[in-house]
Amino acid sequence: MIDHIWQDFLRIAVAELGSRAVETWIKAVSFARYDKDKSVLYFKAPNAFVKDWVQSHYLQFFEIHFRRFLQVDVLRVCFVIGDDQQESELIDSSARLIEKKPAIIKKQKAHYKAAKKLVPYQQMNRLNHLYTFDSFVVGQNNSFAYAAARAIVDKLGKLYNPLLFYGGAGLGKTHLLHAIGNDVIAQDPSAVVVYQTTDRFINEFINAIRFNHVQKFQAKYKRADVLLIDDIQFMANKEQTQEAFFHLFNHLYDANKQIILSSDTMPRELGGLADRLRSRLEWGLVADVQVPSLETKIAILKEKAALQNEILADEAAVFIAQCAVSNVRELEGALIRVLAFASLTNQQVTIELVKKVLGHEKHTVGSNVEFDQVIHVVKSNFSYGLSDLRSKNRSKDISIVRQIAMYLMKHATNKSLREIGEFLSRKDHTTVAHAIQKIEQMRQDQSDFNIKLERLERELYQR
Ligand code: ADP
Ligand code: MG
Repeated sequence: MIDHIWQDFLRIAVAELGSRAVETWIKAVSFARYDKDKSVLYFKAPNAFVKDWVQSHYLQFFEIHFRRFLQVDVLRVCFVIGDDQQESELIDSSARLIEKKPAIIKKQKAHYKAAKKLVPYQQMNRLNHLYTFDSFVVGQNNSFAYAAARAIVDKLGKLYNPLLFYGGAGLGKTHLLHAIGNDVIAQDPSAVVVYQTTDRFINEFINAIRFNHVQKFQAKYKRADVLLIDDIQFMANKEQTQEAFFHLFNHLYDANKQIILSSDTMPRELGGLADRLRSRLEWGLVADVQVPSLETKIAILKEKAALQNEILADEAAVFIAQCAVSNVRELEGALIRVLAFASLTNQQVTIELVKKVLGHEKHTVGSNVEFDQVIHVVKSNFSYGLSDLRSKNRSKDISIVRQIAMYLMKHATNKSLREIGEFLSRKDHTTVAHAIQKIEQMRQDQSDFNIKLERLERELYQR
């Protein structure tokens, strides 16, 4: 249940605080437990730095929304570092904080107001000017999508229509959409570029019906020269919205206006979509974005650091890039945390500092997930248990699940290849090395597989 609420909360947080704040701070904490009697919701932070930051910036935000989710009038949110023992002490201190320090509360309220202001800002469809082609690092994983994006700007409506980017979360789809929009406007300031997330598109549509201004809604989108709709997968099962979008699509298409979309799933595999809409999505070009290689990750980290006027040493970049992160957004979150820590404590970004900030976090190498947790997650997803994994059975099915288990064990525990091999009754630890390589390759080659693994990892690290 809480998992469900947490996902809802994250979506609201992305909308109100922005995905950067969410990746950097909100997702760094995880739900610990709910003390119903005392009406306290506990969240775990990986270290004091994250705890202090989240507490001073987002406490109110947490409380407001979780009160609503849990449908209670009184609820306090409490952030703790790892172990439980400090909890009671912390409740008291946070209670005191609330009673005696209105200044802090005021500050949080101001922050919350500022966050709310962001919403109308985004609703004006203003493009994020930081997401440009210049700031986009091209690697093998995204060169096709990048080339298509660049090509399209010179031949709007004439080359590929629609252009659809697809790939896992945090791999640069939104960045590319904005980059196209920014570039179009740079070349022709009079062009009407409309960017919208599917979530908002749906909300706008629902409100248009409710308040009887469907025409205004349609007019807004029909005047677009370039329409950018992000995360089209959320249109699944929204039949009426699909219908409205379908007509809009036809209208723009017939007028040779450019339509660009993103999705985390291949159109073919998008459930809950009317066939005629699905086939429209495949009319033009479908370009995928994949997980970046280590080299590309390092290049991205350096680019992002340069944007903040920081120079990142090679070994620090390598360490951050090697953390078991499978997407660029997490990578960026980790980097921002490192840079914030360095600047607040007036230190250089050394490898030691990076290890200190990231070393104990859940998604990084060396977190505390144990073998049996991996086994549990594997079993609940593939129905193969430990004895199957240890068996000599080499059917294709079991082999791949075994390889996934090895991969997860390597990334989620501190154990050596040899220990993993022994645990799974493999005589030769090169089997484990081979499995890890294979899974890594599959993640890079197949977005769908990568998405599946991301889900597994999320499940594993949330335990
Ligand atoms: P998606 O829409 O696919 O979930 P985003 O476009 O929001 O992903 O990307 C997440 C973050 O990662 C953004 O801050 C984006 O700037 C950054 N990012 C992703 N790919 C690249 C890249 N190739 N070069 C530079 N930044 C990137
Ligand atoms: Mg996106």
